[in-house]
Amino acid sequence: MKVLDLLRDNIKQLKPYSSARDEYSGVEGVFLDANENPLGSVTEKKHYNRYPDPFQVEVKEKLSLIKGVSSDQIFLGNGSDEAIDLLVRAFCEAGKDNIIVLPPTYGMYQVCADIQGVETRKVNLTPETFQIDVKAVLEAVNATTKIIFVCSPNNPTGNVVGRSSIKQLLEGFDGVVVVDEAYIDFTEEESFLSELKNYENLVVLQTFSKAWGLAALRLGMAFAHPELIKVYNKIKYPYNLNQATQELLLEALDNESLKNENVEELNTEREKLAKQLLDLPYVQKIYPSEANFLLVKMDDARGVYESLIKDLVIIRDRSKVVLCDGCVRISIGTKEENLVLMNSLKAL
Ligand SMILES: *Cc1c(COP(=O)(O)O)cnc(C)c1O
Repeated sequence: MKVLDLLRDNIKQLKPYSSARDEYSGVEGVFLDANENPLGSVTEKKHYNRYPDPFQVEVKEKLSLIKGVSSDQIFLGNGSDEAIDLLVRAFCEAGKDNIIVLPPTYGMYQVCADIQGVETRKVNLTPETFQIDVKAVLEAVNATTKIIFVCSPNNPTGNVVGRSSIKQLLEGFDGVVVVDEAYIDFTEEESFLSELKNYENLVVLQTFSKAWGLAALRLGMAFAHPELIKVYNKIKYPYNLNQATQELLLEALDNESLKNENVEELNTEREKLAKQLLDLPYVQKIYPSEANFLLVKMDDARGVYESLIKDLVIIRDRSKVVLCDGCVRISIGTKEENLVLMNSLKAL
């Protein structure tokens, strides 16, 4: 597979750690192979004494049905952060390779590159409409560009990025194109999961932190060609998802309908809030959002942000972010929380 040629040489050659559970994966037996404590854990539930399933087989089977992909196309990580970090480390050689990001966007892509000593090339989205300038992105690609990160719906702008321009990147670039779909549940737009069969260089990221309401568990998903997932499995920490998290995830996956209800409620609240915000005299613009937040342009964004903090209402000041002059980002709260927000804003 062509994209695998772009892996770092040491990753291509890496012999992964082999855990006790890799060498014998049966469930029955007297387990004296992993130096675990046979007397049980010192918590009320006693079964945390055993190492968890390193490849989360049961969890992935259940998830594969929900997502319509096969288990071997799924990597689960300690947040999307792990999926981003491992990908950068697998493909990018420090001091030599580069990634491309499309500001204004999520900050973690560049942080992972910075940690790895990898250059981040920036090609801004188009002003106001926040779409990809495909020609400029492909011109920024050079022989050592390994990954392009696209975020859709994009954070902090909230809009969906045009499907055809993402496909143009997938077709015009030999490296990995990541489509970060952290907010995919909040939009009607179709996920790129359906494109996995067409593109070997596509990695789709999703998360349990937003629509599923499980940010504290730290659970991210990467979906890709099985050969790319094998790379993830080779370089991840052996037991990267703990037992408690795997159990809670199995429970969560039985409650998809509750997730969908919550998404609908938040989307309704978002549209209500957008209308109310527009009535404020100092609000200039609400950017159309298909996520669980609004990007709002206003007079004196910093001042508004600071005044709200005095009322213990915390929003995100984005006014120093490129192409987000004068903007704040407001997460959609409960009906009650949004009311508190509006009351504070009206009192300014
Ligand atoms: C919130 C968010 C994530 C989720 O990160 P986790 O590490 O899974 O919590 C990923 N990408 C974007 C763009 C986000 O806004």
